[in-house]
Amino acid sequence: MKLNIGPILKNEGSILNIDIETETGPLEYLGNTFVFDGPLKVTGGIRSIGGILELSGAVSGSYSTTCCSCGKAVKGRLEVPFDETVNGETEDFDSECFALNGPTLDISGLINALVWGNLPMRPLCREDCKGLCSVCGCDLNEKVCNCDRTVYDPRLAILRERH
Ligand SMILES: [Zn+2]
Ligand SMILES: [Zn+2]
Repeated sequence: MKLNIGPILKNEGSILNIDIETETGPLEYLGNTFVFDGPLKVTGGIRSIGGILELSGAVSGSYSTTCCSCGKAVKGRLEVPFDETVNGETEDFDSECFALNGPTLDISGLINALVWGNLPMRPLCREDCKGLCSVCGCDLNEKVCNCDRTVYDPRLAILRERH
């Protein structure tokens, strides 16, 4: 995601509007797959003041994933604001979030970091999802089954067999 910041570098205080859409494939995060419904939107602006670039805006997008407890489809929305400053004059520019090459500022790293840092670690269809029965597989949010879900310690099971 490259932005031509040439015009604002020459024009102190002027603002470059950011309004980009970027396609993103399915993301695998902690065993869950997030599929975005459409492109991610990045909106905001960049201002150059005394060689310092001030970036502010937001990344947004809607995704589908599955409940990590019962496996039902879950829809979610990502809306992450950002507010960053970059020294546009540093020659040995090196950062995971930005890459500066002449008048071109690449913010792909920043967008990636914002998206990855804000996906839910445990997506749930509802806050109190009870999950599936480990014996019969029924949805415990909708049904009550009579399965014995007690988990026996296998070491104790061996002792029981001996007696
Ligand atoms: Zn669930
Ligand atoms: Zn059951």
